[in-house]
Amino acid sequence: MAKSKKSNSKTVKLPRWLVILLSILVVVYSAYEYFFVENNFFNGDPLFSANGEGGSTGDGNLNVYYLDVGQADSIYVELPNGQNMLIDAGNNADGTPIVKYLRNTLRVKRIDYVIGTHAHEDHIGGLDTVIKNFTIGSIIMPYLPDKSVPTTKTYEDVLDAIVDKNLTATAAYGGQLLLNDTERQLKIEILSPVKDKYYEEMNDYSIVMRITYKNRSFMFTGDAEKLPEGEMVDAGYDLKADVLKMGHHGSSTSSSEKFVKAVDPTYAVITCGRNNDYGHPHKETLSLISKLKLTTYRTDKQNTIKAACDGDKITFTTGLPVCDGNSDD
Ligand SMILES: [Zn+2]
Repeated sequence: MAKSKKSNSKTVKLPRWLVILLSILVVVYSAYEYFFVENNFFNGDPLFSANGEGGSTGDGNLNVYYLDVGQADSIYVELPNGQNMLIDAGNNADGTPIVKYLRNTLRVKRIDYVIGTHAHEDHIGGLDTVIKNFTIGSIIMPYLPDKSVPTTKTYEDVLDAIVDKNLTATAAYGGQLLLNDTERQLKIEILSPVKDKYYEEMNDYSIVMRITYKNRSFMFTGDAEKLPEGEMVDAGYDLKADVLKMGHHGSSTSSSEKFVKAVDPTYAVITCGRNNDYGHPHKETLSLISKLKLTTYRTDKQNTIKAACDGDKITFTTGLPVCDGNSDD
């Protein structure tokens, strides 16, 4: 009789075996999602088409110019698909020299991808000037949660320049493909920041990307510090690259041994200013570089540096024009 009483009751009590089975299913599904869905990177559609309009005036190789903008970052890239990219635009005063170099020396009229790695002046300072002076395809910046949005004039100037040109910024995060041109064997992967994550440090929002052309890869790190470096290693990304732009101007807050070993580069490029106030590059970074026997290029010693890559060979040229608006020479 107890049985019929129970079945009349409103609360349905699941049999113990079913509760256990459901719990097991939840655990198994979460594990599946963690290992096979969460880590299923770069399988979505690329953010942009590799066959869009092309602003590159280069020779069809992958050419990377690490511009000497003093204590700041600006890297111009000619892609083998005819498109081009500018990663950061130095300090406010560097905007005009960068525009002049790109326009007068490299004959650039259009920039397909403008990337502001993160919202610090030494990276986005000259972006407004660049945006005003060229035809721009797309602008890519990290997503910032409300409490991380800066109130600086520099940042507002960039947003104003974007709005004035009727452009919008695309947020990029780790696990996305920016471009995937299988025919030319050209691929651009975004490796950091983690989607929608709040970071204490603005530097850690830096967009980190790897450009691969045939058998060679270049890693661009902005000012990402050790926290996102660890996240990229732990995420299981393939971080291997031949050329590594050392994070944060060679500061010891970046370039953890774990990350640099995962990238396993042959060449290290340090972008920093002569006798800068921060002591960049720090001795910890330099000793790691010498321990790993990396060939090093530095904008403070060699001015603008060009790395030309045909997909196999990488050739460096140094001593190219300075684009440092704060320089006295
Ligand atoms: Zn910086």
